[in-house]
Amino acid sequence: MQQLILPAVLASFWTICTGAGDWCYQSQFTCDNECNVPDKWNHANSNCAGKHQSPINVVTRKTLKDERLTNFQFDNYQQIFRGTIKNNGHSVQVGVPHLSTISGGGLPTSYKAVQFHLHWGNNGGPGSEHTIDGEQYPMELHIVHMKHHYTDLTTALSDPEGVAVLGFFYERSNSGNRKYDPIINALQSIKTTNGNTSLLPISLAQLIPSEQNLTTYYRYKGSLTTPGCTEAVIWTLFENPIPLSIDQLKAFSELKFNDGKPMVGTFRPVQPLNGRQVSRSVGAVILASSALLVATIATALGLSQPN
Ligand SMILES: [Zn+2]
Repeated sequence: MQQLILPAVLASFWTICTGAGDWCYQSQFTCDNECNVPDKWNHANSNCAGKHQSPINVVTRKTLKDERLTNFQFDNYQQIFRGTIKNNGHSVQVGVPHLSTISGGGLPTSYKAVQFHLHWGNNGGPGSEHTIDGEQYPMELHIVHMKHHYTDLTTALSDPEGVAVLGFFYERSNSGNRKYDPIINALQSIKTTNGNTSLLPISLAQLIPSEQNLTTYYRYKGSLTTPGCTEAVIWTLFENPIPLSIDQLKAFSELKFNDGKPMVGTFRPVQPLNGRQVSRSVGAVILASSALLVATIATALGLSQPN
């Protein structure tokens, strides 16, 4: 008799705790919230169980230097625009006019910016999606681009190289980053799902490090990090993080998920590489050798100066 009871109890537990529902992050899971946590995203979309998924942990000593990974060309990244920031129930997202483009950087063609959004932890704790040598940063910015000739992301996602996402990490700094004021200040107006408000004018350039600090990056092919997990993304992860104060980071934890819970831990766990090679740009080496060159010239000048 007991042999029959246990499976029955397990079955009812299974029904209560893993019932099909919308996808969610691990931080949202409770037994009375029947949502699909990251391990179950393949129930919502089989792509999420694919072999080239994102995010990943980058093991820097296993990356391969690739001479084709030259500096990016950013066009119209300085363009000021009036965007709308929205709480979409999973993150905050800002639509971008399709005027800013990227090329170079080892990309097969030019890509135009479509939207950006963020992933974060709990009150400034670990929250990035990608990790570098196991380190999880407090937040990660994704600027999503599509090949220039597409007009919508859905079409671009049917091309295995249709989408290019630039990923930037954040680090905690002692002072506030005033360039982020328009975004941080808008958060209080979009605390609930579908809340949206217009941003004070911003440019993409003001949200990311200056161009000379974007020469060192990692490259691999992966997927969207939310369902449908489509494997159509050329990923670029920049080494230099963006500074934000702890108060600025904490402001994101004031937002609410679509289930009303605090919007924290909005990251998918890292996925297996499955044999993929992660490449790194040549930027770091160039910077080091130019620094050496400058030092050499300075020394030469110093020596040649009459006393
Ligand atoms: Zn993302």
